[in-house]
Amino acid sequence: MNRGSGLPGEFELIARYFAPLAKGFPGAYGLLDDAAVIAPAAGHELVVKSDAVVGGVHFLPDDPPDLVGRKALRVNLSDLAAKGAVARAYMLDLMLPNTIGEAWIAGFAHGLARDQDEYGVHLIGGDTDSTPGPTTVAIMAFGEIATGRIIRRGGARPGDMIFLTGTIGDAALGLEVLRGRLSELDAASAGFLVERFRLPLPRITVGPRLIGLATAALDVSDGLIADLGHICEVSALTAIVEADRVPLSTAARAAIETAQGDGLATALTGGDDYEILFTAPQTVAGELAELSHTLGVAITAIGHMSAPSAGTEKRVTVVAADGRLLTFACEGWRHF
Ligand code: ADP
Ligand code: MG
Repeated sequence: MNRGSGLPGEFELIARYFAPLAKGFPGAYGLLDDAAVIAPAAGHELVVKSDAVVGGVHFLPDDPPDLVGRKALRVNLSDLAAKGAVARAYMLDLMLPNTIGEAWIAGFAHGLARDQDEYGVHLIGGDTDSTPGPTTVAIMAFGEIATGRIIRRGGARPGDMIFLTGTIGDAALGLEVLRGRLSELDAASAGFLVERFRLPLPRITVGPRLIGLATAALDVSDGLIADLGHICEVSALTAIVEADRVPLSTAARAAIETAQGDGLATALTGGDDYEILFTAPQTVAGELAELSHTLGVAITAIGHMSAPSAGTEKRVTVVAADGRLLTFACEGWRHF
């Protein structure tokens, strides 16, 4: 990396801010070698996921850098959790424009350090470059799972119930708050929703416990309806969702009531929730209720899977309490 930005050199940055994050993971060799080594426990395999966040697309230049780092890591941990895997390590590719100063990198690394402690993962390597474009943070996370036990998207069966952890729609409504579109919402609710947007909570305690119970799973990042559509597509099924069963936080309910537009549509189709959406047979509903109680994480049944009937093109049908079918102009977030 060759830059005229007043930053310390690439190797100094790595030594100062990133090597400390590799401590405690022997295979990272203190970030002093070309590559790292991960040895999964006997009978286990690695589950791998990468996700990039781009300045101006996923975060804004004045967003706090520690939150940028934590969110970039957490979205990856969420994917691993949804597959039933336990996260162990991650790599970080950092593309920095010359407008970035050392304080930003220090804040960013500090955020990662906090979340490493919280989630028990280590930084094991990566790459640092300069770029003429926006700040780009690409993280690849590695998790472990007993061989063959990964929870795929395609295993749902007709009659399976559809479950959701936590509450849905908070992040999308939080983004509406940030855009100034929910100005009448009380401050406490607004603060809660914005926090849910800024810092997702990957459901790492739930995911691995779903092995043997869930038939299909994913984490909700594009929006509930769109992501449920992905399970339907790969499982070759359709889904029926009962709108009034979809778990909403108190703050989300307040936001939906004050929203001028269609707040419920925002909640059901907005992205960034990072809750786990999964299917499971009715026979394990009791076990799931117990699990929810033990872990202190809500697990709510919101509908069921069904074999597609001839001529149906709709993957996901949403039914209101009065039996009306709800339709949405846009079912989820798309980049292109
Ligand atoms: P190479 O020249 O072989 O591509 P680098 O000089 O880019 O390797 O990196 C040296 C070491 O620092 C490697 O272990 C690499 O994984 C690590 N590293 C570089 N950038 C980062 C980063 N942003 N985060 C974590 N580790 C990094
Ligand atoms: Mg090298």
